Amino acid sequence: MGKPTGFMEFERKSTPYRDPKDRLESWNEFYEPLTEEELQQQGARCMDCGIPFCQTGSEIDNKSLGCPVYNLIPEWNDLVYRGKWKEALQRLHKTNNFPEFTGRVCPAPCEGSCVLGIIEPPVAIKSIEQAIVDKGFEEGWVVAEPPKKRTGKTVGIVGSGPAGLAAAAQLNKAGHKVTVYERADRIGGLLTYGIPNMKLDKSIVKRRVDLLAEEGVEFITNTEIGTDIPAQDLKEKHDALVLCGGATRPRDLPIDGRDLDGIHFAMDFLHADTKSLLDSDHEDEKFISAKDKNVIVIGGGDTGTDCVSTSMRHGCKNLTQFEILPKPPDERADENPWPQWPNVYKVDYGQEEAASIFGDDPRQYQVMTKKFVGDGNGNVKELHTVQIEWVTDDNGRKSPKEIEGTEKVWKADLVLLAMGFLGPENPVLEQLNVERDGRSNAKAEHEEYDTSVEGVFAAGDMRRGQSLVVWAINEGRGAARECDRWLMGSTELP
Ligand SMILES: Cc1cc2nc3c(=O)[nH]c(=O)nc-3n(C[C@H](O)[C@H](O)[C@H](O)COP(=O)(O)OP(=O)(O)OC[C@H]3O[C@@H](n4cnc5c(N)ncnc54)[C@H](O)[C@@H]3O)c2cc1C
Ligand code: SF4
Repeated sequence: MGKPTGFMEFERKSTPYRDPKDRLESWNEFYEPLTEEELQQQGARCMDCGIPFCQTGSEIDNKSLGCPVYNLIPEWNDLVYRGKWKEALQRLHKTNNFPEFTGRVCPAPCEGSCVLGIIEPPVAIKSIEQAIVDKGFEEGWVVAEPPKKRTGKTVGIVGSGPAGLAAAAQLNKAGHKVTVYERADRIGGLLTYGIPNMKLDKSIVKRRVDLLAEEGVEFITNTEIGTDIPAQDLKEKHDALVLCGGATRPRDLPIDGRDLDGIHFAMDFLHADTKSLLDSDHEDEKFISAKDKNVIVIGGGDTGTDCVSTSMRHGCKNLTQFEILPKPPDERADENPWPQWPNVYKVDYGQEEAASIFGDDPRQYQVMTKKFVGDGNGNVKELHTVQIEWVTDDNGRKSPKEIEGTEKVWKADLVLLAMGFLGPENPVLEQLNVERDGRSNAKAEHEEYDTSVEGVFAAGDMRRGQSLVVWAINEGRGAARECDRWLMGSTELP
């Protein structure tokens, strides 16, 4: 433990974001790095407690508890405090293939479980993680490490999101010849075409993909398995398959007026925006523009926030975000105790940006959309809503109840549907006859990952449903380990 009294001496300071008005001027990342001294002080706040809940990686009542990749947090906090950055990087890479992604986009369940968090603001774990790996790249410490021996086995991975990339990295390390198939024109899954550039710069994704390619992983883009290549052919071509196709089938809102122009799924909006940015700096105009429009985002989660921040950069006229759930409390509720992930009110980067221009957090809570109304020319013109309350029945189930007299009409030229995802959206599982679970995901146990079809493994959102980057990395690593065991009879992968 670096400094026994650090947590009493230093206040929490996490990676600051640039001023919202300034960051709206560009699509560049919004982080401002902490100084080395500040980072060492943050490392010194870690108490190296007897049971580091921050790194336990489990779930209570479906809520994340601690780091899902079991990052050795107290160890690298201490190393950073003592200025041993290279050793800290080695520790970090032991458990996490891509800390430069999680250090930017992870919601940090570790911090919700930090023991210091019981009495003080928690250790700024995520900021330290990002700083360690960013320094590692700056100093040239992160280099390709191709395997010394090859096994002669080949593995096909479907999907190049964080689960597919983590599985590829690990299986390649074990000496197998790995080919990743991706239907999009760029590698990265939602790291590339979901999370916007200002939250995760795409050059950071590409930098890691290039390293994996240098280590021997083959990437094939613009190829949809199940359409361009029948899934059975792929299975015959490889000794094993790992399915990491994600879960991006969007939840729709089938109400009156849904077929009007100007109503889009969030992913169509976000994907086209990033593609146009990367292809032409938006010059090709092949994206759905929010410029000068009244925008309504339906859905208050991460995807909705990304739609808010993207619309703000386009220069929308005004913006409102609907959330069907109640506004979370400012402090943890009794049924949401430490060390669970704290479900409390937070202003995320997108809402902060909207408030900097329009004055207020754009979220409206407990709002249900009843119908879309057109302008007579096929374009959406307004949304009709009603306020709801959540009522609990005798079995403890909660359901929405409309509150009479709360009907409201909202002007809208662009509506973005960000109401979550229903499961995997492609024919691969059907073509391979992979059994599904009750939510239509590939059926396989966590930590085992083998599907009902021999030699076929599933990981990430395709197995667990839409989740987090850090869980996708956990699953990709785990599926690689089990795939290696199946191929070789034993495994040394963690
Ligand atoms: C808009 C948005 C923002 C998010 N923001 C965050 C965040 O800030 N932090 C966080 O932790 N999590 C975030 N998430 C969740 C996170 O991105 C996902 O949980 C994670 O990317 C899942 O990884 P994955 O590898 O399982 O799947 P994905 O990242 O979805 O990747 C699956 C890949 O498989 C490809 N594919 C699918 N089918 C085929 C096929 N048949 N043939 C070839 N390729 C195929 C897809 O094109 C895709 O590239 C966000 C999600 C969304 C939608
Ligand atoms: S990956 Fe996420 S949960 Fe794990 S240490 Fe980093 S920020 Fe925390």
